[in-house]
Amino acid sequence: MCKFDCERCGLCCQKVRGNRFFDLETTPEGDCIHYDHATRLCRIYDHRPIYCRVDDFYDLHVKPAMTREEYHQKIHAICRELQFEQGLNDLKRGKG
Ligand code: SF4
Ligand code: SF4
Repeated sequence: MCKFDCERCGLCCQKVRGNRFFDLETTPEGDCIHYDHATRLCRIYDHRPIYCRVDDFYDLHVKPAMTREEYHQKIHAICRELQFEQGLNDLKRGKG
Protein backbone atom coordinates (compact mmCIF):
# COMPACT_ATOMS: atom_id res chain seq x y z
CA MET A 1 0.00 0.00 0.00
CA CYS A 2 1.29 3.45 -0.90
CA LYS A 3 1.19 5.70 2.20
CA PHE A 4 0.37 9.38 2.01
CA ASP A 5 3.56 11.40 1.60
CA CYS A 6 3.11 14.27 4.09
CA GLU A 7 5.57 17.17 3.82
CA ARG A 8 5.09 18.05 7.48
CA CYS A 9 4.42 21.70 6.97
CA GLY A 10 1.87 21.62 9.80
CA LEU A 11 -0.56 23.91 8.04
CA CYS A 12 -3.50 21.53 8.26
CA CYS A 13 -3.22 21.70 12.09
CA GLN A 14 -3.47 25.49 12.12
CA LYS A 15 -6.53 27.70 11.78
CA VAL A 16 -8.74 24.67 12.08
CA ARG A 17 -11.49 26.16 14.23
CA GLY A 18 -14.79 25.93 12.39
CA ASN A 19 -13.71 23.11 10.09
CA ARG A 20 -16.56 20.69 9.50
CA PHE A 21 -15.01 17.60 11.10
CA PHE A 22 -12.77 19.26 13.64
CA ASP A 23 -13.93 18.74 17.24
CA LEU A 24 -10.76 19.25 19.28
CA GLU A 25 -9.95 22.29 21.37
CA THR A 26 -8.20 25.18 19.68
CA THR A 27 -5.92 28.00 20.78
CA PRO A 28 -7.17 31.59 20.66
CA GLU A 29 -5.61 31.74 17.15
CA GLY A 30 -7.74 28.78 16.06
CA ASP A 31 -4.92 26.23 15.91
CA CYS A 32 -5.31 22.71 17.26
CA ILE A 33 -4.09 22.64 20.87
CA HIS A 34 -2.09 19.48 20.09
CA TYR A 35 -0.01 21.15 17.42
CA ASP A 36 3.57 21.97 18.42
CA HIS A 37 4.67 25.09 16.55
CA ALA A 38 8.35 24.57 17.41
CA THR A 39 8.61 21.12 15.82
CA ARG A 40 5.61 21.44 13.45
CA LEU A 41 4.49 18.04 14.74
CA CYS A 42 1.43 16.63 16.46
CA ARG A 43 1.83 16.03 20.19
CA ILE A 44 -0.70 13.20 20.14
CA TYR A 45 0.34 11.71 16.80
CA ASP A 46 -0.28 8.07 17.74
CA HIS A 47 -3.70 8.97 19.15
CA ARG A 48 -4.81 11.65 16.69
CA PRO A 49 -8.41 11.48 15.45
CA ILE A 50 -9.43 9.65 12.31
CA TYR A 51 -9.82 12.87 10.28
CA CYS A 52 -6.12 13.57 10.88
CA ARG A 53 -5.13 10.17 9.44
CA VAL A 54 -5.19 10.37 5.68
CA ASP A 55 -4.93 6.66 4.94
CA ASP A 56 -7.16 5.46 7.78
CA PHE A 57 -9.77 8.04 6.77
CA TYR A 58 -9.52 6.77 3.21
CA ASP A 59 -10.05 3.16 4.28
CA LEU A 60 -13.02 4.03 6.43
CA HIS A 61 -14.86 6.65 4.40
CA VAL A 62 -13.52 7.17 0.89
CA LYS A 63 -12.48 3.80 -0.53
CA PRO A 64 -15.68 3.06 -2.50
CA ALA A 65 -15.51 6.44 -4.22
CA MET A 66 -11.95 6.54 -5.62
CA THR A 67 -8.55 4.88 -5.60
CA ARG A 68 -6.05 5.64 -2.85
CA GLU A 69 -3.79 7.38 -5.38
CA GLU A 70 -6.64 9.65 -6.51
CA TYR A 71 -7.39 10.49 -2.90
CA HIS A 72 -3.74 11.28 -2.21
CA GLN A 73 -3.69 13.59 -5.23
CA LYS A 74 -6.73 15.45 -3.92
CA ILE A 75 -5.20 15.88 -0.48
CA HIS A 76 -1.89 17.00 -1.99
CA ALA A 77 -3.79 19.65 -3.98
CA ILE A 78 -5.26 20.96 -0.72
CA CYS A 79 -1.80 20.93 0.90
CA ARG A 80 -0.40 22.88 -2.07
CA GLU A 81 -3.18 25.43 -1.77
CA LEU A 82 -2.49 25.94 1.95
CA GLN A 83 1.25 26.19 1.29
CA PHE A 84 0.73 28.61 -1.58
CA GLU A 85 -1.43 30.83 0.65
CA GLN A 86 1.36 30.87 3.24
CA GLY A 87 4.18 31.29 0.70
CA LEU A 88 5.70 27.89 1.52
CA ASN A 89 6.41 26.36 -1.85
CA ASP A 90 9.87 24.91 -1.26
CA LEU A 91 9.31 22.34 1.45
CA LYS A 92 11.23 19.13 1.16
CA ARG A 93 9.14 16.00 1.17
CA GLY A 94 8.96 14.00 4.40
CA LYS A 95 8.14 10.35 4.73
CA GLY A 96 4.54 10.80 5.90
S1 SF4 B 1 1.77 18.39 3.82
FE1 SF4 B 1 -0.45 18.48 3.93
S2 SF4 B 1 -1.04 16.83 5.31
FE2 SF4 B 1 1.14 17.23 5.62
S3 SF4 B 1 1.22 18.72 7.30
FE3 SF4 B 1 1.24 19.91 5.39
S4 SF4 B 1 -0.91 20.41 4.98
FE4 SF4 B 1 -0.87 18.74 6.51
S1 SF4 C 1 -4.65 16.22 16.48
FE1 SF4 C 1 -2.57 16.38 15.73
S2 SF4 C 1 -2.69 15.94 13.53
FE2 SF4 C 1 -4.77 16.43 14.27
S3 SF4 C 1 -5.04 18.65 13.90
FE3 SF4 C 1 -4.30 18.35 16.01
S4 SF4 C 1 -2.08 18.57 15.85
FE4 SF4 C 1 -2.85 18.17 13.80
